[in-house]
Amino acid sequence: MRLHLVTASVCLALSATAAAENRVLMIGVDGLRPDMMLKANAPVFDALMRTGSFSLTSRNVFTPDQAWNGHSATNWGVMLNGFSPAVTGLTHNGDAEHLINDDVKSESNILSVFGRIKRHNPSLKTGVFNTWGGIGMSRVSILQDCRSTVDFHFSDYQMESSADRDVETVSAAVDALTKKDAGAVFVHLSQCDAAGHGYGYDSTQMNTAVEQIDLLLSRLVRATRTGTARVHNWLILLSADHGGPDGSRGHGDNTNPQTYTVPLLAWGGPFRHGTQFQKQTSLYNIVPTALSWLKVDSDVDHRRRCSVRCSDLWIHIPACCSAFQSGHKSG
Ligand SMILES: [Zn+2]
Repeated sequence: MRLHLVTASVCLALSATAAAENRVLMIGVDGLRPDMMLKANAPVFDALMRTGSFSLTSRNVFTPDQAWNGHSATNWGVMLNGFSPAVTGLTHNGDAEHLINDDVKSESNILSVFGRIKRHNPSLKTGVFNTWGGIGMSRVSILQDCRSTVDFHFSDYQMESSADRDVETVSAAVDALTKKDAGAVFVHLSQCDAAGHGYGYDSTQMNTAVEQIDLLLSRLVRATRTGTARVHNWLILLSADHGGPDGSRGHGDNTNPQTYTVPLLAWGGPFRHGTQFQKQTSLYNIVPTALSWLKVDSDVDHRRRCSVRCSDLWIHIPACCSAFQSGHKSG
């Protein structure tokens, strides 16, 4: 009897351990400049930095050798597949002929982060919650050919106010996280960019937008500790596609540091340090780091020797992606 009890308790312990999986929540705050993030009354941003790792000088798709442009899609493409626009062909907003395609098997196709997750762990549920049409699954969107690998998708472009759209989008993401066991999730929020285009990237309206985003972040963080998400080990990665110059209502010129400098926050997993990344970071770190945390054996990366560890972050190396020419070595 005693043996049975011991066996039963061991089994329970094992099943409890087995139930806890690594999960990832990627958050994209469209148009967020790190200095505007610091300037706002934003306790959740502050807490994520204090208890995670961060960079206030991270970069979007910009490299010293190739600035590309500040188009949102060019940059979100990197956050959603990890490869340079030179590889994917996603070089401008509205590029219909890019190669990011999970739905059709072809050697020339490049899988999205969700495609790569599904290839190795088909049971992990994925979700995309976006407030801008260029990201979603309609034609000429980044994930237009990735329907087969995204379990939950929410977008509502009908609402006039981007602030309202953000609220609805976060509500849908919270629902998927807490009730539907979503385990690899991307959430895109747009009101900072709307404030930038409407009033300027250093405007008081931007300040208000950042503070509203902060409130939404508290809902997302809380969701990772609630319901179906609660037992799992969450890594949160947050960044932005671009900022925008002082006094400007546009962000197309990606040679301006106020456009290409974005925040990078990494919270959970190995990142509970409260430290600033010492090396140059960028959007290229997001997908390899997420895949590493999810223990996705990225055969594409390994076969091409394409992904290397850089402190606690991972990054594709230039030999494969022609993304970075300097400053990103293993170690
Ligand atoms: Zn944008």
